[in-house]
Amino acid sequence: RIKSFLRGNLLTLLTVIGVFGGAILGVILRQTREDKWTEREIMYVSYFGDIFLQMLKSLILPLIVASIISAIGGLDLSLSGKIGARAIVYYFCTTVSAVVLGMILVSVIHPGRGDASEISKSGTSRNVTTVDTLLDLVRNMFPPNLVQACIAQYQTVLTPDESITAMNYTMLDWKISHRFVTGTNILGLVVFATVLGITLAKMAEKGKPLLIFFETLGGAMLIITYWVIWISPIGIFFLVAAKVLEMESFEVIVGQLGMYFTTVLLGLFIHGFVVIPLYYSICTRKLPFRFIVNMSQALFTAFGTGSSNATLPISMSCLEEKNEVDPRVVRFVMPIGATINMDGTALYEAVAAIFISQVRNMTLSIGQLLAMSITATAASIGAAGIPQAGLVTMVMVLDTVGLPPEDVTLIIAVDWLLDRFRTTINVLGDSIGAGIVDHLSKSELLKLGQPNPDTDKVG
Ligand code: ASP
Repeated sequence: RIKSFLRGNLLTLLTVIGVFGGAILGVILRQTREDKWTEREIMYVSYFGDIFLQMLKSLILPLIVASIISAIGGLDLSLSGKIGARAIVYYFCTTVSAVVLGMILVSVIHPGRGDASEISKSGTSRNVTTVDTLLDLVRNMFPPNLVQACIAQYQTVLTPDESITAMNYTMLDWKISHRFVTGTNILGLVVFATVLGITLAKMAEKGKPLLIFFETLGGAMLIITYWVIWISPIGIFFLVAAKVLEMESFEVIVGQLGMYFTTVLLGLFIHGFVVIPLYYSICTRKLPFRFIVNMSQALFTAFGTGSSNATLPISMSCLEEKNEVDPRVVRFVMPIGATINMDGTALYEAVAAIFISQVRNMTLSIGQLLAMSITATAASIGAAGIPQAGLVTMVMVLDTVGLPPEDVTLIIAVDWLLDRFRTTINVLGDSIGAGIVDHLSKSELLKLGQPNPDTDKVG
């Protein structure tokens, strides 16, 4: 029995060992020296991890685009409309639950004590307003050039007017400019792929050749994922070890920042292991335990990489292979979920913004709290599925209540670690969503027939 359990879960077990082993290796390597490890040395340690990450990343673009197009294009429009609507309702409900839970916890625990001096600041931040960020979010949905969208996205920055000299620099006249920053505009590609999928479904027979192309491409990407997964334990091992080496200091986080850290962690735990499993049980009338355990490979990868995008191939593979969720649902909702549904990030945005206002001794009105909850939701939608993207969109949440953007630096010290936990919950939220949508759409999908075994099964 133990043997068969080990055989079935060998990879997951190795991944767990990768995470903990990497952390232990990092700690041991730190102890071997008094002085700091140099960037070059850390690069050597993370080398295999980076290669693993690059392999996953190389799959993301074709996987996302091909999956969405083929899933939507292969369903009839009324069914894909229903599946899409179910997913969106789930995303909305769970994100709002996360924000509300975060707000309640941070108000009850009250980690900020009106004293910013205790927290050391580091780093800098962007200087933009909420309006700019919201406009960027919508602007990014409609990339003017698809090739460019693969490598860059819009970001608004406020730059000082060049005519201003250093002398009157304090009375700056700011100029708004749009910049392309590196990083894929996944949101834009998701929107485009959705529209193309709908179009192919409408074109029926005439759209078939292109549909088959994307079906094959998506299926092929998942087969490659199946191979890449086998090196994930080693990749994660080195990624975690390098991260531990890179950490500034090894002190236990205490004081207000420690309380903030604990609040976010508690919120993430309750949301991930109580709230969304409850959604699952209510909607499917099944216990969520098995489903979550089957996702563990993806959850540990999310923790190891801090990126829900990079984890996407693995989460899709776990859903199809282990949880036997219909591939048409997985390929439709997962790429969209990984891009716009981030429960962990939403919860963290709410907690962090209120924590900062507590540190700054600011009492927020009901109106401000409401505005904050809306922007926290938008910030989680707008955050890219890459490490610490939530910290960038946090600026918008702070801005709604009149806090300066530099204040994100108050929480920067612990952000890299919190990021990993929230990414794990983001991935769990997306996966449970796929499970729920699959359950709710089962009878309609059955009517449509079985998925195509050639392109729809991995491995
Ligand atoms: N790292 C997170 C993710 O990839 C986003 C965030 O920074 O909250 O899901």
